[in-house]
Amino acid sequence: MRERVFTRDLFGCQMPACGKVISNRRQLVCDHVRPHRGDPALFWDEGNLQTLCKPCHDGAKQSAERRAR
Ligand SMILES: [Zn+2]
Repeated sequence: MRERVFTRDLFGCQMPACGKVISNRRQLVCDHVRPHRGDPALFWDEGNLQTLCKPCHDGAKQSAERRAR
């Protein structure tokens, strides 16, 4: 599943400001565009998944959490 998303996105970060291609899989994160909140339909929807590099994933998460506060 993760492999399919990474291959589809050509191992590139989908953050427009970033777009880095990462060959090291440990630096790639399979991210849910919309939070699945335990919904299996959203969880397994490849259209709802994107490849992000770790710094973007961590950064996006942190700013989303900041916005929520
Ligand atoms: Zn990135």
